[in-house]
Amino acid sequence: MNNNGESKRLHDRAVRVIPGGVDSPVRAFQAVGGNPIFIDRGEGAFLFDVEGRTYIDFCMSWGPLILGHSHPEVVNAVKCAVDSGLTFGAPCRAEVELAEFITSKVGFVEKIRFVSSGTEAVMSAVRVARGFTGREEIVKFDGCYHGHADHLLVKAGSGLATFGTPSSAGVPNDFAKHTLVAELDSEDSVRELFDRHGADIAAVIIEPIPANCGLLVQRPDFLKYLRQITKDFGSLLIFDEVITGFRVGWGGASEMYDIAPDLVTYGKVIGGGMPVGAFGGRGEIMDKLAPDGPVYQAGTLSGNPVAMAAGLATLGVMQREGIFSRLEEFGAYFETALQRDERASRYSVARVGSILWLYRQKQKPTRASQIQSEGIDMYNHAHRGLLDRGIYLPPSGYEVMFTSSAHTLDQLDLAADVLSSQAC
Ligand SMILES: *Cc1c(COP(=O)(O)O)cnc(C)c1O
Repeated sequence: MNNNGESKRLHDRAVRVIPGGVDSPVRAFQAVGGNPIFIDRGEGAFLFDVEGRTYIDFCMSWGPLILGHSHPEVVNAVKCAVDSGLTFGAPCRAEVELAEFITSKVGFVEKIRFVSSGTEAVMSAVRVARGFTGREEIVKFDGCYHGHADHLLVKAGSGLATFGTPSSAGVPNDFAKHTLVAELDSEDSVRELFDRHGADIAAVIIEPIPANCGLLVQRPDFLKYLRQITKDFGSLLIFDEVITGFRVGWGGASEMYDIAPDLVTYGKVIGGGMPVGAFGGRGEIMDKLAPDGPVYQAGTLSGNPVAMAAGLATLGVMQREGIFSRLEEFGAYFETALQRDERASRYSVARVGSILWLYRQKQKPTRASQIQSEGIDMYNHAHRGLLDRGIYLPPSGYEVMFTSSAHTLDQLDLAADVLSSQAC
């Protein structure tokens, strides 16, 4: 149905001037078929496309919109900020307030610096980790996404404990060779890397709740093991909480698992829908950054007053409304609803708070390599039909769904029913 309308016309124009017609590849509908839907506006839990169709949104701009689309207080805060100027290239009050807010909520974050994307946050955190330790190697995990910086676009080859190979064209081997790839949920794979390279490893970086390749919830003991082994070898532990920060609770995954990493990265929620990322951690590490230290890091629009205002307003509403208990309650309700129907139970649901993932296999996967394509294929096939019935899911079975405080139980029920009927 959507192949002939205004979205199709816009997509045809887009592909002539924008590669693939999209500014981020995940937005293309390659996995699910058809053309991407062009969006006109969003409100609460709803998206409205350029043809006036309405969808209940479970992509929520990939995570930032924890209060739903166009929350009036966030929109108003942005409008007020805009009236005073778009950017100053000089410090402003809002960045101090946002930094104070975050450091007051997350104990181990003594200092924080703002950037304009999650990619930048991770890139900078890794740089400061290398600068602080004087070491070059980093360890990442197969299936974890940390933005598109060269040295982090590395997936696991078949061999553990081998040097990474680039998974993107355009990344020189020399850039990627300092990235070691381990398996999630495997102490052995991490141990092997430390046995061979321990003295050279600057940092281990992980999404403590990996949510970019399905939702691969880890054993708390595994995360604790990472804390211990990095300590033993004088390496840093970096939690990439660009998705989970201020999404699963005030202290993110680190609070949930009671593990203090040395550095953490944020994005998505803390920008309230504006381009914001941040990295922070122990003061002695962060003090290595220029202008106080030798690790250079900068940004024309970093700490941008309009973006900071959106973040502050979002966190302010979250605090006032105490939204985490509601997100948990509604998330649990949705999880149950998705599985209550005999037919729908063909999907299983992995969930942490308001992050949900549909999969279809007996054993809940904990590693990227364990994900079976059957469930992914089923999801991808169902996607178009779900759109036709007003349910907007992320356009790939490897992506997680998000709920927001704007979703109602009625909407979750409806979506669960539609998903059930579509799963047959
Ligand atoms: C989204 C994401 C990033 C990258 O953030 P961008 O703002 O897209 O650059 C990094 N790490 C994780 C865990 C993410 O989910």
